This record gives sequence, C-alpha cells and structure tokens, in this order.
Amino acid sequence: MALSKRVLFIFQAIVCLCFFSLSQGNQQFSLRNLPPLQKASSFAAMRPETYDYIVVGGGTAGCPLAATLSLKYKVLLLERGGSPYGNRNVSYLENFHIGLSNMAPDSASQAFISTDGVINARARVLGGGTCINAGFYSRASSSFIQEVGWDEDLVNESFPWVEDKIVRWPKIAPWQAALKDGLLQAGVSPFNGYTYDHVSGTKVGGTIFDETGYRHTAADLLAAGNPNNLRVLLHASVNRIVFNSQRGQLKPRATGVQFTDENGRLHQALLNSNCDSEIIVSAGAIGSPQLLLLSGIGPKNDLKSHKIPVVLHNKYVGKGMADNPMNSIFIPTKSPPRQSLIETVGITEAGVFIEASSGFGQSSESIHCHHGIMSAEIGQLSTIPPKQRSLEKAQEYAHTKLNLPKEIFHGGFILEKIDGPLSTGHLALIDTDVRNNPAVTFNYFSHPQDLTRCVYGIKTIERILRTNRFSELSANNDGFSMERVLNMSVQANVNLIPKHTNDTESLEQFCRDTVITIWHYHGGCHVGKVVDQQHRVLGVSGVRVVDGSTFSRSPGTNPQATVMMMGRYFGVMILRGRLGRAAGV
Ligand code: FAD
Repeated sequence: MALSKRVLFIFQAIVCLCFFSLSQGNQQFSLRNLPPLQKASSFAAMRPETYDYIVVGGGTAGCPLAATLSLKYKVLLLERGGSPYGNRNVSYLENFHIGLSNMAPDSASQAFISTDGVINARARVLGGGTCINAGFYSRASSSFIQEVGWDEDLVNESFPWVEDKIVRWPKIAPWQAALKDGLLQAGVSPFNGYTYDHVSGTKVGGTIFDETGYRHTAADLLAAGNPNNLRVLLHASVNRIVFNSQRGQLKPRATGVQFTDENGRLHQALLNSNCDSEIIVSAGAIGSPQLLLLSGIGPKNDLKSHKIPVVLHNKYVGKGMADNPMNSIFIPTKSPPRQSLIETVGITEAGVFIEASSGFGQSSESIHCHHGIMSAEIGQLSTIPPKQRSLEKAQEYAHTKLNLPKEIFHGGFILEKIDGPLSTGHLALIDTDVRNNPAVTFNYFSHPQDLTRCVYGIKTIERILRTNRFSELSANNDGFSMERVLNMSVQANVNLIPKHTNDTESLEQFCRDTVITIWHYHGGCHVGKVVDQQHRVLGVSGVRVVDGSTFSRSPGTNPQATVMMMGRYFGVMILRGRLGRAAGV
C-alpha cells in the first residue's frame, strides 16, 4: 500500500513537471528552432513511421497546436500551401491587397465567391490566415470564453504564450489616429488605450506586423515545438481521413489520412496503435467541414450524390456557416493618407464594431485589385448578368481601372462589422477535389436584426464624419456630404450583387447591396452538433476539429488572437489529459 502511494506520488510529480515545462519555453523562443519545412513528395523517401498526432492544416490554430503536442509526442503536420518565408506578398504589409488578388494556383490566398455574390478569400500557406490577414490582434471577451466553456486559467496562460512571441503594439498611422479621435468625439467612449482586451469604447489593439511592416505569423510558433518530434510537410493536400470500421467496433476509428503531394502523387500517413492517437483537423472554416464531408462524415444524401461512402450520417456538417457582414464608407481626402490596416477599433454596445484602413489606391498595382476594403474602385459589376459574374470578370474589370485618374483613389475607409450575425448559411461540396472550393452561402442580412445593426453602424460612421477631426481631412475643411460619400461607397464596395437606384437613399438597401466581407467567416463544425465539448468528432473515434469552424460566433472584434490561443489551449489540454491518464490521475 505504502509502495503504491509512493508510485502515485512519483507519477504525480512527473505530471506536474511536465506541466511546468509546458508553461516554460519563452526564454528560448527563436526562429532558429523552426523544424525543417519539407515538400510533401519527400514523404516517400522517409523512413516509414507512424504518428501520435496528424494535424491537417498548418494554419492559425494548427501551428500552435502541432508545436505544443510535439513537446511530448510525435506529430506530423500536413499543410496544403507553401512556406510563408521568403514570400513577399505574405511578409510585407504593403503587399496585403496584392497578395489577396493573386489568383495563381500556388498563391497564399485562394479566392472564392460565396453564392451570395461576395468576393472572399481563404488561406493556402503555412501559417494560414495569419499570413494573409490585416494583422489586427484583439482577444475574445471573457463572456465568449465562459460561453464556450473553456478553462479560464489556461486561456489566460495561452494568450500570452502567443503574444510574447509574435504580437506587437502598433505605432499608429495618421488615419488610425484620426479614427480614434473621431470615435471619441462621436461618443464611442471611453478611450481604453492600448489593450488586447475586448471592452466597450475605443481602443488601439495589437498587431502581428512589426514597426518595419514585417509580418510575424502562426508559422513562427512552430519554433516553440520540439523539432525532433515535429515533421512539417508543405504542399500536402489531405484528400480524406481513413477509417477502420471493423465489425463489432462501436465507432469507426481513424487510422490515418490520404494526401496528395506537389506532384499529384498519393500518400498515406498512419497513426500509431495507441488508443490516444488522433487526427486533428485544423483546416479552417471552409477546409474542415469540406474534409469531413470528403471523408464520409456528413448528410448521407449529399455524400451519396457525390458517391462518397458514408462513414457517419451527421446532418449538421457544413451547417451554421456565418460571415460577419462588413460595409464600408469610402472617404476621399485632400491628401492621400499613408497606408494602414486595422489598428483602432470602436466597440459599440449595439454589437457593431468600427474599424478603418487606408491608402491602397496609390500604386498602379493596387488599382488592379478588386477586394472590398482594399480597392477604392469606381464602377460596378452589376451591369453584368448574374450568371456571367465570375472571378475572371471581376479581374478583367479591375484592369480597366488603370485608365482612371489616380486622384479618385485617394482616401481611406471606415468600416463597420456586425458582431454575431443571426443570419446563417451552409457549405456543400461541388465536387470531390479537395483543391476546389465548396459552395458556401452566408445569407447576409437575411435576419432583420443584422440589417438594423448595419444601419446603426452607418449612422455611427456618419457621426464620426461630422466631427471636427474628420472635417479637417476634407477638401476645404468643410466636412463630408453623406450623400456624396454614400455614392462613392456604392462604387467602392465591390461585390457581385446587383445595385439599386435607392442605394444612397435607403441605408437598408445600401447595406444589402454593398455588403462585403471582413473574412471572419466561421462555423460548419459546431460544438454539440459535429464535435463534443473537447472538440472530438461525434460518432467516430480518433478525430478532433480545432479551428474557427467550431465557433458559433466570431470571437472578439477580430478572431485571430483567439484562434491562435485555441491551438495552444487544446494542445495543452490534450497533453494534460493524456499525461494524467498515463499517470493514473
Ligand atoms: P486558417 O488559418 O485558414 O488555417 C487553415 C489551414 O489549413 C490553411 O493553412 C490551409 O491551407 C490548410 N488546409 C485547408 N484544407 C487543407 C487540406 N485539405 N489539407 C491540408 N491543409 C489544408 N483576423 C484578425 O483577428 N485580425 C485581422 O486583421 C484579420 N484580417 C483578415 C484578413 C483576411 C484577408 C483574412 C482572410 C482573414 C482575416 N482575419 C483577421 C481572420 C483570421 O485570419 C481567420 O479567422 C483565422 O486565421 C482562421 O484560422 P483557422 O485556423 O480557422 O484557419
């Protein structure tokens, strides 16, 4: 008895030591510790190996998750895109909009158009969304953390784990400083200073760009892992999760994944036989439901229509997709503002967030672009019949802008985003090629409360434009006519939705017709419907989903902080559970 108590004590001490070493490591953080980033084709030449964890998707959640798991276990991270290092479109703030409009098959950004007619983008690169996003860093509210039921102490350890490595305070740009003053003069107060916290009023948040405009990404977080335990393969597109459905087994069990390398060759990576080994899907809000469907988990009739063998019927896979609608107002200024992405935010009690961006119209390359807030466009695609509105048409149109005088692109945007939209949609496969986008529908403003909040947001922007701070930016210091800026904004917000003659008279119509995205789409693998509270996929064993597809609402004003934190959080949770089980505690 005394002996078994001593054994238990020793096990507990080991577990405590493991937890302690997990919370350490910041002192040694250096990109020199990054594991080798290998091409997927190198898999064939590798010594055959099995893994404790196979993480699908080296994105915002996948990188911190894989790094954390590798501290104790063998991890294979499979990312369909390439390396962010040495890619100028990824690394420099000034190329933000150019990267998004790059339609090449190996671009870090894969464009898609939702069936609503809104041009959108998803990441295709190691580091995921953190490599193509606007960089703004702001944590989830404590009420969000309580709602999702996460351990608050671990959340409060996991946010700084990310922040110490890749987050900075911005040296705020003039346009962002103007928004800060304008928000306060318009009554979006108090000023909460520089903070990562989600608090009502006006604040300056963090950024993953450093003072030179160089981007730090979730890929950097891989340097916090154990390079001896972590294998990273690039250009590895996972086609499906492989299940073993032996007779007598209660649930189908994942045994590995099938993936295609950069030369189109198929490979299979396998989990080891430990019952705790898992496939963790971190392929993002489009990629994760898509991969579950391709693996046979989803609504059975949809699967059958694509001749996908049904592993598990679950009608909720791909359902509850939502995208926070964004509408922006273009403000022509007397002198061109310096380029800036989001640094300041106004958090209103009505659940409408006000942000800004500026200075994208000054180079001829930027005039080529056609992506919502980044493109001060003059003209519309609404004259093209709906069936002919394609990405190619949008791009063709963007080229004609080159002939327009540059002055009309001088200005900045103030944008408004609706928190927790009540309008939701769905995702469905178009075909069985994982490289192709599925069909995604968000049903923007189908719920009347979302429309009411959009109108509130536009009226808040109108109040900001009437402040002294903004009058100073207008041509003759005499302020902006709302009719004029609405007129210009109808042209500037590019989507493929037909326009109406009353767009500038009815703010409801303006909201509907000029809706674009702030790229905070989420859902498709909701907790309680597709995954359980620990994010294990319901009805099968050996598969979890850890990324933005599990959210019912997008956290904070902007999600990346919480998504990176979530990767670290679930990594530590999984290790704690497994180490605890091994020690019998
Ligand atoms: P991702 O980061 O997209 O990760 C998914 C990864 O999985 C990708 O790397 C993808 O290539 C890979 N993948 C997908 N399918 C497969 C497969 N079958 N096989 C292998 N790999 C696969 N948030 C903010 O907080 N602040 C901002 O300023 C901001 N601006 C944004 C601007 C843009 C243009 C975009 C696109 C997003 C922005 N966001 C911002 C949102 C934020 O970046 C995303 O919500 C977040 O990055 C999503 O993280 P994720 O882990 O869910 O998915």
